[in-house]
Amino acid sequence: MLDNGASPFREPSGAIIFRCLAAAIVWVVAVALATAQAMPPRVFATAVDLNSGQVIEYEIRPDGYAIWGDVVIGTAADIANNGLRLPEPLSRSATAQDADKKHIQQNYFGRPLWRLPIPYQFADPVLAPLVELAIADLAQKTVLSFVPRTTETDFIEFAQIPGSTSVSHGIGNGGGKHLIEIGDLVNAAPGRYGAVQHEILHALGFAHEQQRKDRDDYIDLHPECIESSALSQYTTKYNTVPFGAYDFESVMHYRSTEFSTSNQCLTFTVKAGRSATVNVPNCATHSIGQGCGISPGDADAVNYFYSRQTGFDPNQHGLTGSWYEPATSGQGFALEIFPNVSPGTGLAFGSWFTFDAIAGGAERQRWYTLQGPVATGQSNAVLSIYRNTGGNFNAPPATGAQVVGTATLSFNACSSGQLTYTFTDGSGRAGTISLTRLLPNVTCSAKAPRATNADFALSGSWYAGIATSGQGFMAEVAPSIGAFLLSWFTYAPNGAAFGPAGQRWYTAQGAFTPGLRTIPVMIYETTGGTFDAPPSAGQGNLAVGTGTMRFLSCSAATFSYNFTGGSSIGRSGTVTLGRVGPAPPGC
Ligand SMILES: [Zn+2]
Repeated sequence: MLDNGASPFREPSGAIIFRCLAAAIVWVVAVALATAQAMPPRVFATAVDLNSGQVIEYEIRPDGYAIWGDVVIGTAADIANNGLRLPEPLSRSATAQDADKKHIQQNYFGRPLWRLPIPYQFADPVLAPLVELAIADLAQKTVLSFVPRTTETDFIEFAQIPGSTSVSHGIGNGGGKHLIEIGDLVNAAPGRYGAVQHEILHALGFAHEQQRKDRDDYIDLHPECIESSALSQYTTKYNTVPFGAYDFESVMHYRSTEFSTSNQCLTFTVKAGRSATVNVPNCATHSIGQGCGISPGDADAVNYFYSRQTGFDPNQHGLTGSWYEPATSGQGFALEIFPNVSPGTGLAFGSWFTFDAIAGGAERQRWYTLQGPVATGQSNAVLSIYRNTGGNFNAPPATGAQVVGTATLSFNACSSGQLTYTFTDGSGRAGTISLTRLLPNVTCSAKAPRATNADFALSGSWYAGIATSGQGFMAEVAPSIGAFLLSWFTYAPNGAAFGPAGQRWYTAQGAFTPGLRTIPVMIYETTGGTFDAPPSAGQGNLAVGTGTMRFLSCSAATFSYNFTGGSSIGRSGTVTLGRVGPAPPGC
């Protein structure tokens, strides 16, 4: 059975069928720095990284390992024989070498990702309580899974070393035993397993956040405050493409006192104009370099790379919300996932607010709806793209949906997805849009069981009933940042006669506090944009009115509006709204 021309903002029903170089060492200069105490002298050396050409200073441990910060970059003998190649982190770039984004770039430790579950064992069982806590938290927040090693070839081994620092032997799976050494003083501080997770994330293929190639947009380095032997750890940036936004909360970010000459002299500061909010639950440290545990951004990054093995389950209401591509800011998607419409299969319903291929005024606004099945275990959802025309602002007639294309929607993390579209309306438009969540994730999780949230559960599709079927609203509640967002897909007054030029869409925003059910908003009209293109100089957002959203229950609401500008200037009224589809879990 084929889709029968689903009208947007309509009850999904049974009638809608879901659907590098010679081994030439450049130079190694060993410098013995004697200390006044009986401690053995620390030995430092420098070499040029054959990948980047940067001079790297590292420490040679008495056992011969070359340590750069908290990462073993080889042995002194390896570097003498083969030269130095710094291990590089996972990259989001799609090169010929890692077309499926599965591979760490080839280097000293270069190997594919770990297979899940990741086998682990203890050289020092005293570490078990702390490490098990770290692993359990990773397993709960990400798609990762771990299993005590029996006979597996590739595995992580945890050993104890004296002191307060820990070390990972390499970045990524180098094959065979991957040694992680945990300082005995770290183990003496149970509850702060972030230090253990930091080393595990190195083993998984992740590098330091402050070494991302875009870090100079977020932090200012202060070389005069950095211990000279650690300077290259700060000055070196990786060319690999990092996943997600720069994350000040990341467990992979150094503290600004790490390798500093004194606690009064900070190695870096947050760049002017950037806000570095660090608020990790149940953590006493609210500053960069928190050692408590992985951040939501870390979890997303792990899931981005590792969910290709497990699959990311798109059949969950938590993906509901506003999604966009930062490069084409000002247009985007309001999506709702109705989970488990039938067991294991949900329905994705979305509205795409965009523009005509030619920029102009409100008459160049365009919106489409998308609909299709999402199934647990299937990473790609095939959606139909519909267009509705012939309607009037908040008035009859109901409009029918015409199929104008197809799209493939996929998610690989709670805040990361992709939409590929092909129009069949003669326009020849086709492309791929990277999707990022506009507002913070609330209930989405890589793994079940999933949290619910009574405020967020109001998020989704609402409409005014059969008489105006074909137009409607998408609401999103973001309690963690106190924000409410409403998208309104409608028409111009007397828009019925104008075909696509009669379409209109508005966005509305208001402040939200947990439990709030009457939400005042400002209404905006966006014009001057071009279909799936970066904002042009003429693109702008104009406040055109005020409104109030009142949620009476999980399935009933009203929206009052008063337009003082824009296409619907002079119009005011109250729309009685019902929910499209069933209320989600937790409502
Ligand atoms: Zn590290």
